[in-house]
Amino acid sequence: MNPLKPLKTLKLFQPSYHLRHLALLCLSIAGPVSRASSQEYFQQEVNFRIDVSLNDKRHELNAFESVEYINNSSETLEYLYFHLWPNGYSGNKTDLARQLFQSGGKAKLFKDNELKGYIDSLDFKVDNQTIRWNQLTGQPDICKLFLNKPVGPGDTIYITTPFHVKIPKGVTSRLGHIGESYQISQWYPKPAVFDRSGWHPIPYLDQGEFYSEFGSFDVSITLPANYTVGATGDIQNKTEVERLDSLAADNSWKTRAGYLRDDFPPSSLQFKTLRFTCKQIHDFAWFADKRFHVLKGRVRLPDSGRDVTTWVMFTNQQAELWKDALKYVNYAILYFSKCIGDYPYKSFTVVQSALTAGSGMEYPGITVIGLSKDSYSLDEVIAHETCHNWFYSSLGSDERRYPFMDEGITSAYEKRYMSKRYPGRKLWEEYFKNIKLVKFLHLEKMPVQRIPEIEWLVQARQNLEQPINLPAPDFSEINYGTIVYSKAAICFNYLRAYLGDSLFDSTIHDYYRTWKSKHLGPDDLRSIFESHSGKDLSWFFIDLLGTTKRLDYKLSRVKQNELLVKNRGELISPLLISGMNGDSIISEKWADGFRGKKWISIPEGNYSELKIDPMHVMPELFRLNNNIRVSGFFRKADPVRLQLLYTIEDPDRRTIMYIPAVNWTRENGFMAGLAVHNGSLLPKPVEFFVMPFYSFRRPDLAGYGRIAFNMIPYDNLIRMATISLEGTQFAAPGNQNYHKAKAGLDLYFRTRQMSNPLIQKAYWNYIAASDLYQIEIPEKTTMRSYQQFGYMLGKNGNVNPFNILGSLECNKSYQKASVDFNYKYSYYGKSKGLDIRLFAGTMLKNTTDVPFYAFSPAGRGGREEYLYQGMYPDRFRVFPEKFWSRQMTLSEGGLVSPVNDSIGYSRWLISLSLSSNLPGKAGRMPVKPFFNFLLNDHGIGNGHNSPFFYEAGFKAGLWNVFEIYIPLLVSENIGSINGSIKGRIRIVLNLDSFSQITLKNKLVN
Ligand SMILES: [Zn+2]
Repeated sequence: MNPLKPLKTLKLFQPSYHLRHLALLCLSIAGPVSRASSQEYFQQEVNFRIDVSLNDKRHELNAFESVEYINNSSETLEYLYFHLWPNGYSGNKTDLARQLFQSGGKAKLFKDNELKGYIDSLDFKVDNQTIRWNQLTGQPDICKLFLNKPVGPGDTIYITTPFHVKIPKGVTSRLGHIGESYQISQWYPKPAVFDRSGWHPIPYLDQGEFYSEFGSFDVSITLPANYTVGATGDIQNKTEVERLDSLAADNSWKTRAGYLRDDFPPSSLQFKTLRFTCKQIHDFAWFADKRFHVLKGRVRLPDSGRDVTTWVMFTNQQAELWKDALKYVNYAILYFSKCIGDYPYKSFTVVQSALTAGSGMEYPGITVIGLSKDSYSLDEVIAHETCHNWFYSSLGSDERRYPFMDEGITSAYEKRYMSKRYPGRKLWEEYFKNIKLVKFLHLEKMPVQRIPEIEWLVQARQNLEQPINLPAPDFSEINYGTIVYSKAAICFNYLRAYLGDSLFDSTIHDYYRTWKSKHLGPDDLRSIFESHSGKDLSWFFIDLLGTTKRLDYKLSRVKQNELLVKNRGELISPLLISGMNGDSIISEKWADGFRGKKWISIPEGNYSELKIDPMHVMPELFRLNNNIRVSGFFRKADPVRLQLLYTIEDPDRRTIMYIPAVNWTRENGFMAGLAVHNGSLLPKPVEFFVMPFYSFRRPDLAGYGRIAFNMIPYDNLIRMATISLEGTQFAAPGNQNYHKAKAGLDLYFRTRQMSNPLIQKAYWNYIAASDLYQIEIPEKTTMRSYQQFGYMLGKNGNVNPFNILGSLECNKSYQKASVDFNYKYSYYGKSKGLDIRLFAGTMLKNTTDVPFYAFSPAGRGGREEYLYQGMYPDRFRVFPEKFWSRQMTLSEGGLVSPVNDSIGYSRWLISLSLSSNLPGKAGRMPVKPFFNFLLNDHGIGNGHNSPFFYEAGFKAGLWNVFEIYIPLLVSENIGSINGSIKGRIRIVLNLDSFSQITLKNKLVN
C-alpha cells in the first residue's frame, strides 16, 4: 500500500501541523497464541478453485470455493483457522471498526447499511463431510474449522464451502464498490498461515496488511458481458483476450466528444464467465468496471528473456494522466527486474479505481491506484505498487508483523527509481506552482528526496519515533507513514550506499532467488546480507531497525589529513565523510561506526571543508554539527539564512525567519515591529520567538520574547524536557509599563503505547510580574513573584478526548489549588460533540487585601489578569465602558456574566460548564448553546444569598479565535446584578491560538 504522504497533506504555511492527532489506534491482535515450534522450514500448500458470480444490482457475490490443503508440516492438525475478512465490515465491534474509530472517529463506522459488508451462507465441508466450525468470539472475520479426522504430515484434505458476500460501499477500506465499479479484494474464505511459529489468524485491518499461504488459483468470474475485469493471474478465455485486444487497439476514445463523462452504461443482459489462473501466489483480487479503457504492452525480462504482458485499465476520470501509464508500468517492471531479478509472473495489470486505503494497493500480479495529483505522482505510485510484486507478492513476509519488510524495502526501491527517473527534481515542484515565489522563499534548490527526511525528522526531533521493526497496528497513524515508509526507505538506501549498489543488488538478487514464493522473516534478510557482505550488520538489523537509537555524528577538529569525529548518538553505524571544495564533493570515504571520539584519516585533497554526508543518505538527526572548514576562524560555524515570511528549513543550515508585525493597545497605541523566529517545521534543540515593537503613542519599546531549550533523552521516562525563558513588556496606565518574566520547566513523559497514547506532562513556572493592583490604584509598580506547579494527563484524538490538569499556584501571600477537567463526548462525526468542563478550586492560604488572587466566579477581564495572560488590546478598561472592556478569558468559575466585581472572589468554588454543537445541519453554523453552573462559598449577600448560580445562552464565533457569549437565561442572583442581556454580553479573543508556540504546547500537551 502507498499511504497518502503526510507532508503532502501538510499546510506548509500554517503551524497547524502540530495539531495532528496523536491518539490513534487501540488494538490487540487477539486470537489464539501461536504455538512456537522449532521445526525446519516448511510451508503449507493451498490450491483454490472458486466459481463466483457478481450481482451488480444488489452488489453481491455468490460463490463456491474448493480448497486443496496440503499439510507440509510435521504436525498433525486437528483444526484450521480461516479468514472471513469481509466480516471486518459487518459491524462496529470488529477490529477494523475499532481501528477506524480510533483514527477517524464515529463518522467512519458502519452505521449505514450500504457501508456494511459481510460474508455468509457458509457451509464448510472437509472431504465432503460436514464439519463443526465457529467464528471466534468478538472476531467475526476469523473462524476455526474442527476437522473430523486430523490431517497428518504430508496429507491432503479438500475443504469446500459456498459463500455469499455483501459488498460494502467502497469508501471505507480495500473491499467495496462505487456504483457499478467493483474492487474485490480480501473477499473469499482463506486459511490462515501455519508456519514455523504456528498459526497466524489475523483480523482484517486498514492499517496493517496480510499474510497468506502460497498455492494456485483457478477462479471463474461470471458477470454481465460488458464488464472489463482486471485480476490476479492470466486470463484463459480466448474470446475475452480478443475483446481486450480490440479495446486496447481502440484509441478513438481519446478524441470522442464527451469522453470525460463518467456514467455507467447499462449492464448487458448477457453474461460471460472469465477464468483466471495462476500458480505460486498467495492472494487473488479482481476489479470490474464497464467503463475501463485498456492499454496493453509487453516487457522482455532481462535475465530470462521471457515476455510479460502488461495491462492498464482506467476510466475517464483521469484519462489524461493514464493514457501515458503503460510506459510507467513497463519501465518499472524492467527496472525492478534488473535490480532484483526477473518479474515473477506472466502478466501484470494496473487498474485505476476509487480507493480509500492510501493512494495505491498491491495484490499479486495486479494493483489498484486511486486518484493522482499529476503525472509524477502517478509514476511514483505505479512504481511503488509494481515493486510490491517482489516485496510482498513473491517474497511472502508477514506484512502485519513485519510491515517494513514489504513497505519499507518497497519504498526504498521506489525512491531509488524516482531519483533515476527524475534526476534533479526539486521539492518545490510538489507544492508550489509559482517559481518566483519559490525563489523568494529560497526553495529552488532543495531536492525532492528531502521530503521523507523532513517527515521523519518532525517526529524524531520530538522523540516521538518508534522502531522500524514493529507490528503494523502498534504504530501511531503518523508513524506508520513516517517510520515504516519514509524512515525505512532512508535506512535501506543508507545500507545500499554503504555496501555499494553492486553488492547490494547481488545480495537482493540472491535473496529473491532463495526466498521466492516462500514465507520469510527479518532474520532471513539479515543472514543473506551478512553472508554476502562478510560484515556484522547488527548495527543495521538490530539497532537501526529494531530500536530508536539515534545517529548523530559531530565533526570536532581537523589537522593535516586527520579528522576528529565524535559520536553523539546511541547508534554505532557507518558514516560517510566527504571532502568538499565549495559545493562539489571531491572525495568520499566510509568509516565504520564507533563509540565516543575517533581520529579518522581522510584522503589527501584540496578541500575547503569536510562534511559528514552532504547528500543526506544517512538518517542523521542533527546536521548542523556535520561540517568543519579546514582553515580560518569559526570553522564549525554554519550558514545562516535570513528569510522573510517562511521557508521549509534546510536541516543543515540555520534559518531565521522574520515577518513584519503590527499591534495595538490603548496605552501603546499603534505599534510596528517584527516577529523573528528560527523555524516552524523542524523542532530544534534551541528555539526562539521574539516580537519587538516600537510603540508610537508612547514612544517606547514593547513586545514579547521566548527562548526554549528542548532536551530529548534516549530511552528515558522523560520524552522531552523544555526549559524556557520568556519576557513581556507593554504599556500600562499612569505612564508606566507592565513587565512579566517567566522561567519554566516542562517535562513530557514518554508514552509506551503510541497507537493510543496517554499524554502526561508536569511543569513548574517561576513568574515575576508587575503588581497589577498598584497599576490600578495607580501607584508606582513593583514586581511580584509567583510559582506554579502542575500535572496534566490527557488523550487527544477524534473520539472522546479529555485532559485533566491539577495545579498549585502561590506567592508569598496566597496559595491556591485547583483541578480542571475537560472532556468532549463525541457525537457521530469527527469534531462534533458535547464539551464538558468541571472545575474545582480552593484557596489554601490568602492573607492579602488584593481581591483578585482568589478564585474568580466569572471569566477574567484584563484588569483581573494579575499574570497578564492573554492578548488584551484594551487590558485596563473598566467594564462596561467600551467594546473591548467586554473581553475576558474563561477560566476558574467559568461564568460568562460579568459578576466578579459585584459578588467578589471565592475562597472555594466548583463549576460545571456544558456546550454543544447544534443538532443536525444546524451544527454547521458557528453557534453553540452553553450552560454554566457554579457553586461558591459565599453567594452575593444582600438578600441574594444563594451560593448557587447558573446561566444559559449561545456563543458564536470563529475558529476558537474570536467568540461572542450571550447569556440569555440567568439565575436570579446574576439577574439582580446585570438586568439586561446587553449588560452580560462578553467576548473572547484568543489570538494566542495563532501563535505557533501555543500550538506546539498544545501538541505536546
Ligand atoms: Zn506499499
